[in-house]
Amino acid sequence: MSTMCPACSGILTRGPVCGCGEEMVDSGPVTDYFGPYSPYFNLHFESGLCVHLFSCPACGYDRRIAVNLEDM
Ligand SMILES: [Zn+2]
Ligand SMILES: [Zn+2]
Repeated sequence: MSTMCPACSGILTRGPVCGCGEEMVDSGPVTDYFGPYSPYFNLHFESGLCVHLFSCPACGYDRRIAVNLEDM
């Protein structure tokens, strides 16, 4: 059994809604931002999560959101 990230594979087409009401856009996975000493590093590899950066095209707000990996 293997898992995949629905956001990385393009299945997840709807982003979260920003505080301004605009739908946020997936800017890609941000695992590169985390080093081995970050708590997110182990979170990503052990908990089946892929962290993505979502940004709002309207106001420029961005946030990191952990996407659950799904079984194939
Ligand atoms: Zn992903
Ligand atoms: Zn916004």
